[in-house]
Amino acid sequence: MYYSVPRGTKDILPEEALLWQELEQTCRDIFRLSNYLEIRTPIFESTELFARSIGKTTDIVSKEMYEFKDRKGRSLTLRPEETAPVVRAGLEHSLIRPDQVTKLYYIGPMFRYERPQAGRQRQFHQAGVEVFGSADPLIDVEVILLNRQLFSALRLKGLSVNINSVGCKKCRPEFRKQLKDHFKYNINKMCADCQNRLEHNPLRILDCKEAKCQKYIELAPASVDTLCDECKGHFGAVIKQLDYHQVKFVVNKRLVRGLDYYTKTSFEIISSNLGAQNAVSGGGRYDDLVAELGGKPTPAVGFAIGLERLIEVMKKGTRDEGRGTQLDLFIATLGDKARELGFDLLIKARQKGRSADMDYLGKALKTQLKLADKLGAKQVLILGEDELNKGYGILKDMKTSKQTEVRIDSLEEVV
Ligand SMILES: [Zn+2]
Ligand SMILES: [Zn+2]
Repeated sequence: MYYSVPRGTKDILPEEALLWQELEQTCRDIFRLSNYLEIRTPIFESTELFARSIGKTTDIVSKEMYEFKDRKGRSLTLRPEETAPVVRAGLEHSLIRPDQVTKLYYIGPMFRYERPQAGRQRQFHQAGVEVFGSADPLIDVEVILLNRQLFSALRLKGLSVNINSVGCKKCRPEFRKQLKDHFKYNINKMCADCQNRLEHNPLRILDCKEAKCQKYIELAPASVDTLCDECKGHFGAVIKQLDYHQVKFVVNKRLVRGLDYYTKTSFEIISSNLGAQNAVSGGGRYDDLVAELGGKPTPAVGFAIGLERLIEVMKKGTRDEGRGTQLDLFIATLGDKARELGFDLLIKARQKGRSADMDYLGKALKTQLKLADKLGAKQVLILGEDELNKGYGILKDMKTSKQTEVRIDSLEEVV
C-alpha cells in the first residue's frame, strides 16, 4: 500500500521538470530584459490581507481559500495569488513609493480550493510581474508585450489579447448603478450568490458561472460605456499602442476578472495553441490597491501567467526540438580496471561542464549500450578489457554510429 498525492495536487516527475526549468529560466531572462527584479514572499500570509485586497464577495475569498489557524490562533491563508503579498512586502520594505517606478516579478506555487479538472490544480504555479508608481498607459502596454516576448522565446505560436476597461473610483459608481438597475428585475430568477452580490457587489455578478444567470449577464451594460474622460483616454491610448505594435486583440466587454482591485485596463492573453476559452495569462491595472493596503496612493499594473497552461502548450509538441533529457556522454566499461579509469574520466568530463554518466550496477556491455541509447547520450566511450590492454578505448557517435579508436593518453582530451 502506497500513499497517494493529495487531491488536486500532482507530482512533477523528472522529465516534465526539465520543461519547468526551461520555462522558469525563460521567464527570469525575459523579465530581467525589461528591468524587473525578483521578489520572494512566504507561501502563507494573514487571511485579512487577501480578504481586504481580493474582496470578501469574490469566489476566491468566499469559497477557495486554504485558511487555517496556527497554534496561537492566528488566521493564516496559503496564498491564492501573489499581487497582494507583493504589495504587502513592497510597503513593508519601502520598495513601493509614489515617486518612483518599481518593477518586480515572482515565480511560485499558489493555492486555491477548486474542483480539480483538466488544467486546474489546487496547488498551481504562476509567474507574474507588478509595476508600481506609473499611471502611464505605456506601462500597461509594456506588460502585455512582455507576454508576447515570453511566448516567442518559448517558441509558442501567436497570442491574442482580450482587453477591457473596468473604470475607476470616479466612474465605477455609475456602472454599479446601471448593473443594479439591469439585474434587479430578474434577480429572483438568478442564483443565490447573485442575489447576495446585487446588494454588496453587483460587479461580481458578471463572474457568475451558473447557467441560469448567463442570459441576464449577456445583456448587462458594459463598463466601457460608462467610463469617465480619464479612463476613456487611458483605454484609448492602450488600444492605440497595441495596434501600433501589431498585437491582435479584441475588446471584451465581459472581462472583469474576478478580483475587486482592478481599475481601468484588464486583460487576458490567449495562445492560439489552446482553445479559445483558455487564457494563459491575465492581469490589469490596480491603481487603488496600494492605498487600500495602507500605502500612499500609487498606481500599479501587473499580470500573472498560469504556468501549468504553458507547460501543456509546451508538451503539445508544437515546438521544434525534442527531449531535453540528453546526456553529452555515457561511459561504458568492462572489468574493474576499465571501471576505475571510466569513473575518473567521468568526473573529468563533468568538471568540463559536460553532462555525463556511467553504469553503477555492473551490467553487461550490451545492456550498458542500450541504457546509453535510452538516456539519449550523444557519445559513448567504450572501455573494454581487450581494447585497454591494447592501449585504446572506443568513442562512438550515437547519431552516426561512427566509432573512433582513441589512445589511452588522449582519452582525457576527448571526454
Ligand atoms: Zn474612470
Ligand atoms: Zn449567478
